[in-house]
Amino acid sequence: MTVKLYALNCGALEFDRRSFFPDAAKGVAMRVPVPSFLVVHPKGRVLFDTGIHADGFRDPVAHFGKDLAAYFRFYCGPGEGIAAQLRLLGLEPGDITHVVNSHFHFDHCGCNGLFTRAEIFVQGAEMRASRAARDADGRARDWDQPLNYRLLEGEHDLFGDADVVIVPTPGHTAGHQSLRVNAGSGMRLCLTGDACYTQEHLERDLLPGKLAVWNADEMQRSLGELRRMRDRESTELIYGHDGAQLRGLRRCPEAFA
Ligand SMILES: [Zn+2]
Ligand SMILES: [Zn+2]
Repeated sequence: MTVKLYALNCGALEFDRRSFFPDAAKGVAMRVPVPSFLVVHPKGRVLFDTGIHADGFRDPVAHFGKDLAAYFRFYCGPGEGIAAQLRLLGLEPGDITHVVNSHFHFDHCGCNGLFTRAEIFVQGAEMRASRAARDADGRARDWDQPLNYRLLEGEHDLFGDADVVIVPTPGHTAGHQSLRVNAGSGMRLCLTGDACYTQEHLERDLLPGKLAVWNADEMQRSLGELRRMRDRESTELIYGHDGAQLRGLRRCPEAFA
């Protein structure tokens, strides 16, 4: 059995285009997919991010508070969302052995609470910064639960064979991390998460709007590191919210790599 990768459709978000592209025209909306990814390795099933909480789609004001609910529109079609997508593969949340959260934004850790049997890998820096901000942020309920968190301080090779490796890519948040995967198909990939929203950000060396940048120098450095992986190590980057790219990948229940 070789390593396989699946792209899971966890709905979509719509918001002002300038939060992605600060130089865009005023008042133009854009809609982006919210993906998560399943890596099936002989020694475990690894989920990279868990999408948006079901209550967030049903009643955004109650779940996220009125500020965030006013800023975003939330879409979840039939068969979308982490549980429904896993079901297409004949899996339940209890079958997932490892969860890797790129970071603790609501569209990346919303369904953490389903994965009570998994070990959940987060950078210590992300946990510390999120705890420090918790009181000001009702969204903490998505991640602030008695789950089996394992805090990392840097890179971590999940199975000791260099095939599934967590790499820190800070800047979007304090402890953002990405996931490098050697797929059985011979492809080297990196799931960037929000360290790079779209290919256009990489091509233009562009950071998103200020609200989506925790530290611009660190985010720029992480973007450079992703570019280096792509250009020097023949690594295909799978961006955090790139609709054009995601539409081109084979859909779950088929593996895309
Ligand atoms: Zn984010
Ligand atoms: Zn995101």
